[in-house]
Amino acid sequence: MPDFAQTVKQQADIVKVIEGYIRLRKAGAQNYSGLCPFHKEKSPSFSVHAVRQFYHCFGCQASGDVFSFVAKIENVTFPEAVRIVAQKCGIPLPKREFSSPEQAAEARLRAKLLELHEIATAWFEEQLRSPEGAVAREYLAGRGLTPDGIKAFRIGYAPDSFNALRDRLSGMADNETLRASGLFSSKEQGDGSLGPIYDRFRKRVMFPIANEGGRVIAFTARTLETGDKAGAKYINSPETPLYSKSLVLFNLDKARASIRQHEFALLVEGQMDCISVYLRGIQNVIATSGTAFTEQQVALLRRHTSQVVVNFDPDAAGSNAAEKSIAMLTEEGFTIKIVTLDGGLDPDRYIRERGVEAYTQALRGARRQADYLIERARLLFPGASAEQKVKAMNFLLPHIRRMPEKLARDQFAADAAQKLGIDSAVLREELRQAALKRRDRVETRAATLTEVERVLLRALAITDPEDERARRLAVEALAQQPAWFEHLGTYAAMQALAVRQANDPIEVVEDLEQRALLAEALLAETKPPLESEVESAIQEIHERAIENRQRDLRALIAEAERRGDFTELALLTQQKLDLDRALRQLHRGGA
Ligand SMILES: [Zn+2]
Repeated sequence: MPDFAQTVKQQADIVKVIEGYIRLRKAGAQNYSGLCPFHKEKSPSFSVHAVRQFYHCFGCQASGDVFSFVAKIENVTFPEAVRIVAQKCGIPLPKREFSSPEQAAEARLRAKLLELHEIATAWFEEQLRSPEGAVAREYLAGRGLTPDGIKAFRIGYAPDSFNALRDRLSGMADNETLRASGLFSSKEQGDGSLGPIYDRFRKRVMFPIANEGGRVIAFTARTLETGDKAGAKYINSPETPLYSKSLVLFNLDKARASIRQHEFALLVEGQMDCISVYLRGIQNVIATSGTAFTEQQVALLRRHTSQVVVNFDPDAAGSNAAEKSIAMLTEEGFTIKIVTLDGGLDPDRYIRERGVEAYTQALRGARRQADYLIERARLLFPGASAEQKVKAMNFLLPHIRRMPEKLARDQFAADAAQKLGIDSAVLREELRQAALKRRDRVETRAATLTEVERVLLRALAITDPEDERARRLAVEALAQQPAWFEHLGTYAAMQALAVRQANDPIEVVEDLEQRALLAEALLAETKPPLESEVESAIQEIHERAIENRQRDLRALIAEAERRGDFTELALLTQQKLDLDRALRQLHRGGA
């Protein structure tokens, strides 16, 4: 860990930082608990250890230090997380905060690209107000946008020119940077090199795409041409160092406060739908921009809510992307409701033609996901024949299996059986099986720790030099008698801890299950174990090792007797007597 990160970690209070995101309650002498922000849950299984400065979730096994928490919840890299934590704690950033020249160069490029996008946005806005922008203003008015709405979303106009934006920006950055901005295109030359750059967006209405912080990082551009010259109706910025389509949810910057307040997000497909609905007062709305949700987008959204009302276009393509998104959200434990607007209208047209009251009403009438899917199954496979029922059920089974909670699966399966009129015992059994076990993902329940393991893990995790002797006892026992410990579920964690240098105990255990068990032991601790406690834990381990060996020997002895192998029998019996004696001595010594 770089020095600066180390300094920040020492000064930052993980409890305070995490409390900035979720509500924590004191749960013990040194720990706090709350609802995990990384998975959906109703009772808190997320813990924060105030002294050891780590968090751990017993539900989804997420764990780590203050930086990994911020990196995960803010969806940023480690260096960015360090900067965020430093800022939260009022620790001044060092002049050079980058660990490599490449990182510094990348940060400079990103800063420059943000600046270029800001200037481009303002310039497009200006063009929209210019005489040439009249055709765009007309188009926007036709879509029901007022000047205030245009201003709120910073909608602009790219004039019909190959060099107007280039001329505006050329003095502000070198050619390489302008290329990297995604605002320009160029043609490949005969020799494979890239030709001169020209404006990518021409005669188009420009919709800025902002990151969660509200800074413009890309554009969606709608053509105003008609006929052959028009090209694609919408074009987007390409992937750039600033913008990755799969990492952005359109309007999340404006919607997030409202999403938290209403405890759900309204998800629509198109940006125009999103803008239109937002400007009419329903502010917790975001858009996917016409493609299925990505895992990263789900993660982005989860930080604000775990409930989504989906209102996608009713056309076939819409339904396909909708189903993929719904599948993804379901798997991640979101609660989903689905709106279908009558008249086959998209949200933009519906709200403009029928008003915000009617739209709000439609949202209230959103159907539970299960009901929606069963209805779709019935539409796709109509009729009461056995064959159609099998098809309908096969359509539903993957959806049922995807739901993380057994109760929900049971309910879904029961509803499906009833509504599809499935009376065949075989089909019912298939539904029951689907509900019984969630496919693909095995629910990992952490194994329970024994008291002995708790003591040993806590001893091995000791960081205070004053308690070093207790730690040494455990380290030496592990090194000298590994066979005593091998059968323990936490053996891997113990080995990692035993050889660690001055590192943070949680960090050295890389296996997530092992880390979870360690976290469990540490979260329960109030102070490190005494030497005497460690000694008796080791003795108990030793005894158990002997007992295991005795059990093995008893089986071997019985087997030798059965075979009539008296040489073997004598040998085994002697071994067993030796062990009995060793165990007696151990007991006496321990007493
Ligand atoms: Zn969790």
